Amino acid sequence: MRTRFAPSPTGPLHLGHAYSAILAHDMARAAGGVFLLRMENTDLERCTGEWEDLILEDLTWLGLSWEEDVLRQSGRIADYNARLETLAARGLIYPCSCTRGDIRAALAAPQEGVPHNVYPGTCRGRPMTDRQAGDALRLDLGKALDLLSDRPLTFVETGQGHAGRHRVDAEIARQMIGDVVLSRKGEDIVAYFLASAFDDADQAITHVIRGEDLFEFTPIQVILQHLFNLPTPVYHHHRLIRDGDGKRLAKRDDARAIRKFRAEGATPDDIRRMVDLG
Ligand code: GLU
Repeated sequence: MRTRFAPSPTGPLHLGHAYSAILAHDMARAAGGVFLLRMENTDLERCTGEWEDLILEDLTWLGLSWEEDVLRQSGRIADYNARLETLAARGLIYPCSCTRGDIRAALAAPQEGVPHNVYPGTCRGRPMTDRQAGDALRLDLGKALDLLSDRPLTFVETGQGHAGRHRVDAEIARQMIGDVVLSRKGEDIVAYFLASAFDDADQAITHVIRGEDLFEFTPIQVILQHLFNLPTPVYHHHRLIRDGDGKRLAKRDDARAIRKFRAEGATPDDIRRMVDLG
């Protein structure tokens, strides 16, 4: 078993992250496996070295240790883009110049047969040679699914909420995912779910252990894995740690920051108890 904790260093480590990290770490240790750490820091404005240092310090304080060097996405952006570009030769991506307003307007006047909640396909079919500096790159999902029609698009989930084998249904994917943005408008930064899928394969991750809020990204990741001939790991989506009002913790939720509990004299065991992993 090889698993990982993959925080985006845009704020302090809070109880929700601690739960995710401890759970993945303990599952790896129990299986005699490997636990890795990855910094998902492609958002160069929001991700800072200070946050990363604090996360490393908090994880160490929690008693967690990881094998191999920490993988930092910021050093791999050119590589992600080069791999994304290979989809161009296969006609699977296209440049998109739509603003949010354009998309809203197109969705407000739906055409028959076009799903209502996904990108309406305004720029679909634009050739890559037509790409302007500020354009996003979108996946032509219909073409991708046609290409993969003889592949079993499935994944195994072991988390409590959705345990079992899931099939990525092409029709539902068309309606729910659509032509997603793989590279953001105006920046050469690939989407989180694409970078993460590349990294999981490159780090030979066999089990992805992460919060339930990311369950909805799994189908598109499975589709991308097949497009790039990458293996599909087992997924384990865990419950989210919520605050007293039942809301999930956010990065700005400093009240639950591990550094705050540390400053107040809590021990790593106290943190484990707070998230029911004591
Ligand atoms: N970087 C993501 C986050 O902090 C986690 C990605 C993943 O575990 O797949 O929410």
